[in-house]
Amino acid sequence: MPAGPEIDRLWFDPAEMLIGGAWVPASQTLPVEDPSTGSEIGRLARGGAGDVDAAVAAAVAARQGDWGRMTAAERGRILARIGRMVLERADDLAVIEAMDVGKPLKQARADAVALARYMEFYAGAADKVMGETIPYLDGYTVYTLREPHGVTGHIVPWNYPMQIVGRSVGAALAMGNACVLKPAEEASLTALAFARIAMEAGLPPGALNVVTGLGEEAGAALSSHPGVHHLSFTGSVAVGRLIQTAAAANIVPVTLELGGKSPQLVFADADLDAALPFLVNAGIQNAGQTCSASSRILVERSRYNEVVERMATRYAALRVGPARADLDVGPLISARQKEIVAGFLAMAPEGSVAAKGTVVADAPEGGHYVAPTLLAGPGPDHPLSRDEIFGPVQVVIPFDGEDEAIAIANGTDYGLVASVWSENGGRQMRMAKRLRAGQVFVNNYGAGGGVELPFGGVGKSGHGREKGFEALYGFSVLKTVAARHG
Ligand code: NAD
Repeated sequence: MPAGPEIDRLWFDPAEMLIGGAWVPASQTLPVEDPSTGSEIGRLARGGAGDVDAAVAAAVAARQGDWGRMTAAERGRILARIGRMVLERADDLAVIEAMDVGKPLKQARADAVALARYMEFYAGAADKVMGETIPYLDGYTVYTLREPHGVTGHIVPWNYPMQIVGRSVGAALAMGNACVLKPAEEASLTALAFARIAMEAGLPPGALNVVTGLGEEAGAALSSHPGVHHLSFTGSVAVGRLIQTAAAANIVPVTLELGGKSPQLVFADADLDAALPFLVNAGIQNAGQTCSASSRILVERSRYNEVVERMATRYAALRVGPARADLDVGPLISARQKEIVAGFLAMAPEGSVAAKGTVVADAPEGGHYVAPTLLAGPGPDHPLSRDEIFGPVQVVIPFDGEDEAIAIANGTDYGLVASVWSENGGRQMRMAKRLRAGQVFVNNYGAGGGVELPFGGVGKSGHGREKGFEALYGFSVLKTVAARHG
């Protein structure tokens, strides 16, 4: 797989971070790895506590300067411009993401378009967040104002860098916050490219700052910084706990999105032809490295064998290879992630592998490839059915009746997304109410991504809502003004 022409598309130096409108190097760098080949394709700035201090100071200055004084309509206009420019450069962004994350090109391009959509959505929403007037005592006028927190910290994972930057930074900027963004060390390139575009689009210096580097260095410095007024984090439960602890020390609000073990419930009366592509795609998209991946398929017993067989046929046709070959599935992000997934697969009970996809013969040897694996056998309490694997692995589990379906579906620590496949309207509504999840889909899964749809979890999937209009409430503070005028 030639690496040359794609690397030429990197129109910036990833060893520079954005602080106060200036592109600055760090004293050290980290390797940038292409997961499709395992080879180094560049160097990334390894920012530290001093860089975070400077970024927070720049954000404070932006809030006190042009950015803080800007009207909501003007902020919206800048976001709209960023959105247009992101769309114009969607192909370039897709190539960068494919190199950096290993995503098949089509999926990477869809992420670039989603990033543009977040900018468009929050551009239009920026001047539509309103307070209320509250009927109160005689002689009083009472109203509420929605104000920005001030400086917001955004710690982003490697699986969907563009989408997660879009949803979190887009909403925060729309409300007038000044952002400090710490992308994942495994995949920071499109966050840096986005920041370049935002500056070209006229975002004032300091409104967005990007400090790249390691989680335990730049990430920890950002989450514990006393100058940060709100934290937004997407990633693992273990690090989410650290972020919430750091937020507690500074008494600042935090939004946590920590993944899940999301089920699809297939009842005997489901339209299987419609369901099948969703059942499989929701598990293998982005090689299963998706917080809302559907890693459990629960099937009413009378159709269990049929679903396993039909999913197995699809699995057998899946092809895995380098991102630029644009097959069904790309590599995992890193050797470490591949090891984690291999560890899970080693726990599969004998005879439980129903089908596997194929890693293409010319996939580069150093790439982190795992054949998608469909499991029929592990019970609902098996670690493969309870823990987040973050790889292309799905477990199919039988159930008898609605109560058992709910008991299994709600029986993990997580609660991010769920779906119900049934032609019975009453059952759809009952299941939607009883499922413990932040989003429930009826006869679909994911609804095409939906930047408009509030998203977040319950339980160990986290708390707070991102996406949609709801995110704007999370990125703002409500002030009540009570005026006594007689
Ligand atoms: P992670 O939670 O370690 O990293 C996510 C982000 O947090 C990165 O930007 C990282 O630099 C930062 N970070 C790490 N340690 C930090 C610290 N001490 N303080 C502040 N920030 C810190 O996730 P990972 O190691 O990349 O992946 C591990 C597991 O997390 C995966 O196997 C998967 O189960 C889960 N995960 C979930 C999501 C999701 O979307 N919910 C995304 C990525 C990973």
